[in-house]
Amino acid sequence: MTESSADDIFLDAIKRLDRAALFADIDAEALLRLRSPRSLLEVSIPVRMDNGSLRIFQGYRVRYDDTRGPTKGGIRFHPDVHVGEVKALAFWMTCKCAVVGIPFGGGKGGVIVDPKQLSRLELERLSRGFIERIADFIGPETDVPAPDVYTNAMIMGWMMDEYSKIRRQRTPAVITGKPIPLGGSLGRDDATGRGAYYCIKELERIRNWNPSEIRVAVQGFGNAGQHVARLLHDDGYRIVAVSDSRGGVFRADGLDVPRAIELKNQGRAVGEVYSTRSVCECPVCGGDDCHCSSDDAGSGDVISNEQLLELDVDLLIPAALENQITAENARRISASVVVEVANGPTTSDADQTLIGNDTLVVPDILANAGGVTVSYFEWAQNQAGYAWSEDEVHQRLQQIMAQEFNNVHQLASNKQIDMRTAAYVHALNRIGEAVEAQGTSRFFAPGDDA
Ligand code: GLU
Repeated sequence: MTESSADDIFLDAIKRLDRAALFADIDAEALLRLRSPRSLLEVSIPVRMDNGSLRIFQGYRVRYDDTRGPTKGGIRFHPDVHVGEVKALAFWMTCKCAVVGIPFGGGKGGVIVDPKQLSRLELERLSRGFIERIADFIGPETDVPAPDVYTNAMIMGWMMDEYSKIRRQRTPAVITGKPIPLGGSLGRDDATGRGAYYCIKELERIRNWNPSEIRVAVQGFGNAGQHVARLLHDDGYRIVAVSDSRGGVFRADGLDVPRAIELKNQGRAVGEVYSTRSVCECPVCGGDDCHCSSDDAGSGDVISNEQLLELDVDLLIPAALENQITAENARRISASVVVEVANGPTTSDADQTLIGNDTLVVPDILANAGGVTVSYFEWAQNQAGYAWSEDEVHQRLQQIMAQEFNNVHQLASNKQIDMRTAAYVHALNRIGEAVEAQGTSRFFAPGDDA
């Protein structure tokens, strides 16, 4: 990503705020506060590499807005991390937590690194080093990190341990998405995909869908993409295409999703952090040593990520990175429904084209909010010393996702606006209430004390 395109992501994110403000019940002062982050920390992290050399990694943590509660959001390890991107991601977290009504503000962190190039020990040193640098900035009641792109439960475990050592006090609630034995919550691992799945179940009800007739393409086959594909496949949806950073696979009759997941993760021993396999290694189900029958083998095609987006499908699920659906390709999107599991997959200049084509977009700040919702459950369990069953987590998540999906859907139809704008309006109304509860200029204006 170039410097300017990463800065643009933040400016683009703020454009959605301006549009939604036209329909929201929010004081101008609250809007003003939401135009820039509360605080931003830039750090350099020295890491001793296995060969004895020293490398310095650049990292960021942004606390965007904490009016509704401690700032909350993941830490991303990626070579393209940029401060503008982290600000946008932190802004989206602020809106996301408000959409689902959990008592958090928004934050985000990132380290510029290709983690797949590091050994496990180097990765552990980097994870601990980042926490050492941001330890004064985070805490269970101030800022609570979590996993994001290329970070996972094991990394969260190291980070929690490092923070606890610094504080000389075991502090599980400082971070969520931890391994279960270290204070993680059941149901956190698949929560992002599952939250999107619960949104799709609401759409299924509203649109009277027959799952076997619904063709689905999933871009991105990391944690969220795999889980949403698996849950939909189990319900009889036809997953015709999936892809990862190296490419994708298409099969008109539907892919064997459990097999694709198995192959993607093959060669990944327990405790291994990243899979090295790609779903496009087999034209049918996702691996070069697949055991698909020859009948099957003929009908799968290797496709690119760009081609996947433009396939003739009913439901498109971008579950990879930002800026995938743009003004350039939006008119070629033929799916009638897009459910955004990634953060920021659609640029704001693509919005009008999609609206004009009657494409229903379930926006990221609603569709992928399942992850942070179960993070909230994890934080609450840590604070209270409880451990909920997986069924309880699923039930609570389903209840929140269905309720907020319907709130946003209803708002969109009442105000005759698209679902993305409605989701922002819903978030702004909640953030606005919190800002006004502290008093705005209407309250403090002189001469109005009666
Ligand atoms: N990284 C996830 C997101 O973008 C989860 C954040 C969290 O659990 O705090 O929503």
